[in-house]
Amino acid sequence: MTATISDGRALAADLRARAAAAVRRLGETHRLVPGIAVVLVGHDPASEVYVRSKTRQVVESGMRSFDHRLPETATEAELLDLVARLNADPAVHGILVQLPLPAQVDTAKVIAAVDPAKDVDGFHPLNVGRLAIGLPVLVPCTPLACVMLAKTVRPSLEGLDAVVIGRSNIVGRPLVHLLVAESATVTVAHSKTRDLPALCRDKDLLFAAIGRPELVKGDWIKPGATVIDVGINRIVEPDGSARIVGDVDFAQARAVAGAITPVPGGVGPMTIACLLVNTLRAACAANGLPAPAL
Ligand code: NAD
Repeated sequence: MTATISDGRALAADLRARAAAAVRRLGETHRLVPGIAVVLVGHDPASEVYVRSKTRQVVESGMRSFDHRLPETATEAELLDLVARLNADPAVHGILVQLPLPAQVDTAKVIAAVDPAKDVDGFHPLNVGRLAIGLPVLVPCTPLACVMLAKTVRPSLEGLDAVVIGRSNIVGRPLVHLLVAESATVTVAHSKTRDLPALCRDKDLLFAAIGRPELVKGDWIKPGATVIDVGINRIVEPDGSARIVGDVDFAQARAVAGAITPVPGGVGPMTIACLLVNTLRAACAANGLPAPAL
């Protein structure tokens, strides 16, 4: 079997186009322009690339982007003060504080300071709790992207056996809640899991959010399974060239799986598209409007 490759770039472009159309309609009917503030502290190269890409896509979709750059030496008080101003700004419907933050800043404190209604990353403890008990909420973008990608292959996840490898607050844990809400039967694996290959072998859906290059091998995968690879790992070849790979050994997995997301070009582009969707939803909610149909 050769797996279908889920083209995250094309799906993301389609979702962005639908979000842009909804933004246009909001402008025409309610003179409302959704706005997102992106806060970047320091000069982490990966974060800078990611923030540039987010900003470009926000602007292209017709939303407003408010960029705030703080030096690496910024204090926790400075950051909390900025978040308070963004919370109070009616033109800002979404706030994204790019992680990681420098060591002198308590990340949990900053996340908890963001107005939950503007928490387009879905990291605020209140939103985490709402997700866990199945209430409507701004869902973290990467897990949302994972579920959307899986559903393009299997429109209903009901009753399917899923394994989520990784239990981070950003990906693994929220993904578990989303899959439970879709009525999948979910197993969570992590660094202390015994016999990970055996655990994976009978699962219809495999989500890898590990951060270990090509850890998941072809013989871990059930024939025909849907494989969603979240990992982004930079590996340097013996000749000094570098390339990005996922957490799944793509060449091996492709020969066994029914469908697989590539890295790059799978979950990554869909994650940013989901950020636009969350910002749109936050803007509608802030103005008493129903969530747009996308
Ligand atoms: P993390 O380091 O916070 O968590 C990794 C998880 O993997 C942990 O729960 C750990 O228990 C588990 N793990 C580590 N080694 C393991 C092993 N040998 N066997 C089983 N489990 C193991 O990472 P994260 O923030 O969840 O990110 C995971 C990966 O996803 C990274 O490569 C990251 O770059 C990528 N990522 C991609 C996107 C995207 O938009 N595509 C977004 C966020 C993260």
